[in-house]
Amino acid sequence: MTANRKSLADRCRGIELLVLDTDGVLTAGGIAYGDNGLELKTFHVRDGSAIKSWHRGGKQSAIISGRTSNALEKRTRELDIAHLVQGADDKLRAYRQLLNRLGLRADQACVVGDDSADVPVLCDCGLAIAVADACPEALSAAHYITRAGGGQGAVREVIGLLLGCQRP
Ligand SMILES: [Mg+2]
Repeated sequence: MTANRKSLADRCRGIELLVLDTDGVLTAGGIAYGDNGLELKTFHVRDGSAIKSWHRGGKQSAIISGRTSNALEKRTRELDIAHLVQGADDKLRAYRQLLNRLGLRADQACVVGDDSADVPVLCDCGLAIAVADACPEALSAAHYITRAGGGQGAVREVIGLLLGCQRP
């Protein structure tokens, strides 16, 4: 069986690392600015609990974001996400460096994205997932499209899919 003919379940079974985009995946994509210049983001609480159960199973997660914000740093700490790359101009480079550092192969990574900046990373991983309201380029690069939109529980849906396929 060639790599690109792998079934969705086969792709899910090998995943050790979940790589998430932030804006439009962990959030609905809106960015609010306070008077003091603070950037505010809204995260979905059920995505958070799902990420914690993913970690409890001994799996890892990472966030690679093109932007930089204190809100994201706080959320990452709260969820014990070990790997956070902010201000990534080149997401593919950041992703490859991360895989290298963790000693993982691309087919062990599931990447969730919504925008064109995510496409090179989606095209270089074992399981590429786009959220329901992703841009057309991300949707076409995906092996799987969530029913939920970004910030609406899409990450919980992804983790449910992965854990469902990985159950012994
Ligand atoms: Mg995004």
